[in-house]
Amino acid sequence: ATPISLMVGVGKGAENGILIRSGEALETAQKLDTIILDKTGTITEGKPALTDIITANGFFENEVLSLSASVEKSSEHPLAEAIVNGAKNKSLELFDAQNFNAVPGHGVEANINGRKILLGNLKMMNNFSIQLNDLEEQSRKLADEGKTPMFVAIDNKAAGIIAVADVIKPDSKEAIAQLKRLGLEVVMITGDNIITAKAIGKQVGIDIVLAEVLPEDKAFNVQKLQNEGRIVAMVGDGINDAPALAQADIGLAIGTGTDVAIEASDITLIKGSLKGVVLAIQLSKATMKNIK
Ligand code: ADP
Ligand code: MG
Repeated sequence: ATPISLMVGVGKGAENGILIRSGEALETAQKLDTIILDKTGTITEGKPALTDIITANGFFENEVLSLSASVEKSSEHPLAEAIVNGAKNKSLELFDAQNFNAVPGHGVEANINGRKILLGNLKMMNNFSIQLNDLEEQSRKLADEGKTPMFVAIDNKAAGIIAVADVIKPDSKEAIAQLKRLGLEVVMITGDNIITAKAIGKQVGIDIVLAEVLPEDKAFNVQKLQNEGRIVAMVGDGINDAPALAQADIGLAIGTGTDVAIEASDITLIKGSLKGVVLAIQLSKATMKNIK
């Protein structure tokens, strides 16, 4: 590859909102055979909003939401923001939290007004031996609709479920179809539960779903596919995607994502659309064809 034609290619990318860090990245993109897409913030907008509250054991809806939001005030997770905004929209009072603790990939806990609040997924509830009874079935129904359900326990008793949902980006489905037409295998990776992840996958045309992946295990999953001899791209937006973006043969960061993800990547998609992944690969193919 001549440096000049690579420079031209990098320039063309920039004109289309695709910032390619090196000529080497542009050369490699046409060799890719596997694309791993993060779910939240990459396939979806990453701005989940509150959709459902279900209560149990005599707890009240407003009580469950206001105590949950009081805990989530201390969390920076997008799910936390959805819950806090949901409570604010209903003008509910938020209280100060004591002993806040976030368990990555599981949920959060804190004391509010002397009551012990737990908020998180099934793993979190199982770790604290919370009896969920028919809440488990109800959470499955919400997940089947592509929503992310979180269990709430108050003083070690199941109090309900709070569900949030995130909008799929308008271009995601079409971009994924184009990637498949280019002969690429498309995989979704997420920390979210398997039922929700599969429901979203179905909506965008992805049937290979790696779900309930702990933040520290995303890079390991990239490496496993590389060990099968694949040339792998990872597309992500979050801090927890950074190690996987660095591990991949090509890391592509969503431009609206966190700086840490952008720094770990070879390519930044300024517009945030997955169409940028398609364009980057097409640009690489065109550039390498001119060179040969
Ligand atoms: P992702 O960013 O892909 O959702 P995470 O590993 O951050 O992956 O979270 C995985 C799961 O852990 C979430 O889907 C949720 O069930 C639970 N969880 C994580 N953080 C929180 C939080 N602040 N509040 C409630 N649940 C949480
Ligand atoms: Mg994300």
